[in-house]
Amino acid sequence: MEESVIREIYRLKSEKDAVILAHCYQPPEIQDIADHVGDSLQLSRIAASTDVSVIVFCGVRFMAETAHILSPDKTILLPEPIAGCPLADCIDVPTLRSMQAMFPDSLTVLYVNSSADVKAESYACCTSANALEVVESAPSDSVIFAPDRNLGTFISRKSDKKIHIWNGACRTHAVADIQDIKRHIEEWPDAELLVHPETSPEIWELADAVLGTGGMVRHVSNSQATRFIIGTEEGMVYRLKTLFPDREFIAAGRIYCPNMKVITLQKILDSLINLEPAVHLDPEVREKAYAAVARMTEITG
Ligand code: SF4
Repeated sequence: MEESVIREIYRLKSEKDAVILAHCYQPPEIQDIADHVGDSLQLSRIAASTDVSVIVFCGVRFMAETAHILSPDKTILLPEPIAGCPLADCIDVPTLRSMQAMFPDSLTVLYVNSSADVKAESYACCTSANALEVVESAPSDSVIFAPDRNLGTFISRKSDKKIHIWNGACRTHAVADIQDIKRHIEEWPDAELLVHPETSPEIWELADAVLGTGGMVRHVSNSQATRFIIGTEEGMVYRLKTLFPDREFIAAGRIYCPNMKVITLQKILDSLINLEPAVHLDPEVREKAYAAVARMTEITG
């Protein structure tokens, strides 16, 4: 059954001039059939640079929206429309505007894990990898950072600016269990512990490096270590095992995002058959959100 679905996906992908992009938190069977696997911004940049007309984006809604922001002329399919992100959903335009009214001298730097209409209200977007650089280059002494409080705290410890941090969190990373992680460190004492900045600060204290998913790939590539404990969503363990079959990886505990697991092979096939559900944004919102994403690119190159 699965094989016939995959065959049909490949056939339709060619017929409809499509490419499949998968976030590295997607399940193994989806990473395996994707043309590209990566973090949300890498995938959006691939979406913008590829010359196909249809992108099947296997991730969550804010990622597919970002792909649409960067490439509005392509059809961006999100095969399961309920694939949302509680972190992105914890902030909306009216509440962000209230915070901006409280701190009128602060520019807003917004983590890309946010919806397009909130991006449209910000000065610049950032990723976990370039958040500090974007905050530092903002032409204001203070900054509103939203929506992830752990990433905001991580940045505030490295920056001299006053940072007003939105009190949101990724439910998957923020509840990672420190006891689980300590147990894995005891079991694999020679391993490097890599953790995502969306985990809590007490977990960073244990880590060899605090990195986003793209940073983890680069770190492993440059490291002499052969074993790694991975403190981010468990799909990343599969991604790293695929990229580095000569190294060993173990998840730092049950760090599982249910929102990343709602897309199935059958749903990808259905989306290719129907060219739905596609992402649509209000053109004005898209343009303003594009300005925030483009500013990040100007700052970080
Ligand atoms: S891992 Fe966290 S930030 Fe990523 S999609 Fe899931 S809830 Fe959102």
